[in-house]
Amino acid sequence: MNVLNYINGTLRPAVSGKAIDNYNPSIGAVYGTLPDSDSEDVQLAIEAAEAAFESWSKMPMETRFDWLMKIANEIELQKEEFILAESIDNGKPTWLASMSDIPRAVSNIKFFAAAQMNFPSESHHTPGQGINYTLRKPLGVVGCISPWNLPLYLFTWKIAPALAAGNTVVAKPSEITPVTAFLLTKICEKINFPKGVLNVVHGLGPKVGQPIVESKRIKAVAFTGGTQTGRIINKVCAEQFKKVSLELGGKNPNIIFDDVNIDEVIETTVKSSFNNQGQICLCGSRIFIHKNIYETFKVRFVERIQKLQIGDPLTDVNIGAVVSASHLEKILGYIELAKQEGGTILTGGKRFVPEGRCESGYFIEPTIIEGLDYQCRVNQEEIFGPVVTLTPFETEEEVIMMANSTLFGLACSIWTKDIERGHRMAEAIESGIIWVNSWMVRDLRTPFGGMKESGIGREGGFEAMRFFTEPKNVFVKY
Ligand code: NAD
Repeated sequence: MNVLNYINGTLRPAVSGKAIDNYNPSIGAVYGTLPDSDSEDVQLAIEAAEAAFESWSKMPMETRFDWLMKIANEIELQKEEFILAESIDNGKPTWLASMSDIPRAVSNIKFFAAAQMNFPSESHHTPGQGINYTLRKPLGVVGCISPWNLPLYLFTWKIAPALAAGNTVVAKPSEITPVTAFLLTKICEKINFPKGVLNVVHGLGPKVGQPIVESKRIKAVAFTGGTQTGRIINKVCAEQFKKVSLELGGKNPNIIFDDVNIDEVIETTVKSSFNNQGQICLCGSRIFIHKNIYETFKVRFVERIQKLQIGDPLTDVNIGAVVSASHLEKILGYIELAKQEGGTILTGGKRFVPEGRCESGYFIEPTIIEGLDYQCRVNQEEIFGPVVTLTPFETEEEVIMMANSTLFGLACSIWTKDIERGHRMAEAIESGIIWVNSWMVRDLRTPFGGMKESGIGREGGFEAMRFFTEPKNVFVKY
């Protein structure tokens, strides 16, 4: 499939006419192209978005709701095409795209279409003097930049609140997985979505993302991606005092106490470790297990993982391909590093070569490692692949110290039947999201995001609506 930009309501190639190859990771071959856009395309998108702002921001919220719902409903109607496209473009099994990515993209749009109608303004009475009320106005043209791991899911997580709040948008999906964002823009063209309100420019980060972030005409940037890219974006935004929301990397702890039902924990830990080939920012890659159940947990977990089926994501497998050749090399590099750092590979540890059409695809066996120090690089740096480490602990204090020892602070799971301990641990762990006795249960109203080098700001619910609006307090004297 040849992906096109969507600027001012029209699907078009890059102004330069250049294109980049798009790879299917499960066969390790090019299967399409995307525009190799640059600042010229970004400028056109910004101009279109500026021209559309007045009418979109002043549109009755019911009409804006209808427009967003039209996009969501069309995705639902075409969901089979979207599921297949996401699976081919990213390497994830179709069941995952069908259970998570595509329905969640639809929910994101529906949720924020409704949220803008329920977003309250604040009012504060100053006794004896008067009353304050807070206006919340859209910002103008905003930039939304998203990664490859949950392509449409995270793309819509940004554009939906931005548009719902009345902004116009210049968005850049990951160049590694551009297809489902393109399919969404095909829907926009088909339904005659107001032109210029949403503009999508495809291409490389430094050539497209950077000009979006650098443009003084872009009033805010919502970014999800790696911490190093976030650092670059944050510097540019700081210089311009531009509003920025950064959803970055993680190295999340999964803490298992000795009072749990081990079978139940293992079932969820299979998912929190290896869903989407471990390429979810919320995956629990550092598993801390109480020493009383360490051996039992380890043996059963390894047995369970060895039963997982790896291979062609379009068939009934548990584990598909990782996203690219360079990402495959990066993950294998970390597995080698784990050996050098004294780790023992309990299962996995190698590239996997399926028979048949996927033999050149980028597959890695789900890998479990033990025997590493909690401070080693493998336990401190984000690998973002199907690799987890097991570390025993004895006391709450010890596991809190190890869990909090990284530069990241995105998500954490805590497993215990002792609910007091659950609350105590939730308070002590440095993390934006805590799940007690669960993983990845998401209520879209809750604040979502990380602390430390996992990001700045929160998205989700009214947090996102606040980010995409400028509050203005008005005081009226009695
Ligand atoms: P990435 O930082 O390489 O790229 C993300 C996006 O930024 C892409 O669209 C890319 O083209 C663009 N980009 C790259 N350089 C840029 C620049 N200089 N200026 C502007 N834009 C630029 O990240 P990735 O490899 O696509 O995604 C994986 C990372 O995303 C992991 O670290 C993962 O933890 C993180 N992530 C975080 C969350 C979260 O919610 N916190 C969710 C998903 C993924």
